[in-house]
Amino acid sequence: MQEDNYRHKGMRKNLVEELRNKGIIDENVLNAINNVPRHVFLDSSFVEFAYQDKAFPIGSGQTISQPFTVAFQTSLLEIQKNMKVLEIGTGSGYQACVLAEMGAKVFSIERQRKLYMKTKSFLAEFPYRIKTFLGDGNKGLPTYGPFDRVIITAAAPDIPQSLVDQLKVGGMMVIPLSENEECQTMLRLTKQEDGSMKRETYGDFRFVPMLKGVGDD
Ligand code: SAH
Repeated sequence: MQEDNYRHKGMRKNLVEELRNKGIIDENVLNAINNVPRHVFLDSSFVEFAYQDKAFPIGSGQTISQPFTVAFQTSLLEIQKNMKVLEIGTGSGYQACVLAEMGAKVFSIERQRKLYMKTKSFLAEFPYRIKTFLGDGNKGLPTYGPFDRVIITAAAPDIPQSLVDQLKVGGMMVIPLSENEECQTMLRLTKQEDGSMKRETYGDFRFVPMLKGVGDD
């Protein structure tokens, strides 16, 4: 793993201040962003980019989400220690580490085989409670549920019913639901006692698409 030196830590502090200025107020989230070294998720030649508030390509046609988006989705989840969290779209593993740094037990699904293999071995270098799975996130992980929280980190064309079924009563799902190809609306769905979902809407974001099945890249 790449080193995490004072320069990196300084850049991360600045990023945290930038996120604060952009409206992220949850100190637990800001603390986690401050503690997880984002540059180690990128190739060492891209260190300069790691602490800009931008999405960045990670290979296999995929991206590591923009820090603001990670912070925003994580804030909506209202994570408490030991919660079971299902993530759809492992990608680089950065979002999973932020959740795990906050004390969550993370179950994360990736559909692209090569990316899954690469990230799985990389995540083994961290002390976090993260289990990774190769599969179609639309189906969730019925044998590991029910979950306290579900986070989808790809643009979802619809709300997958299996994921709703795997959520506890009182549990929350954060999902960027596609309005069209360019733009997704961030939704927070909370499961009610009667099984219905309370829906809250939080502005527009851009994600790579959530696809069906498993791919090779
Ligand atoms: N959470 C990631 C961001 C990932 S980008 C991070 O922190 O880096 C979205 C990821 O979702 C991509 O890796 C993509 O391959 C994956 N993905 C898309 N559709 C999926 C599906 N149906 N099931 C699981 N993963 C999916």
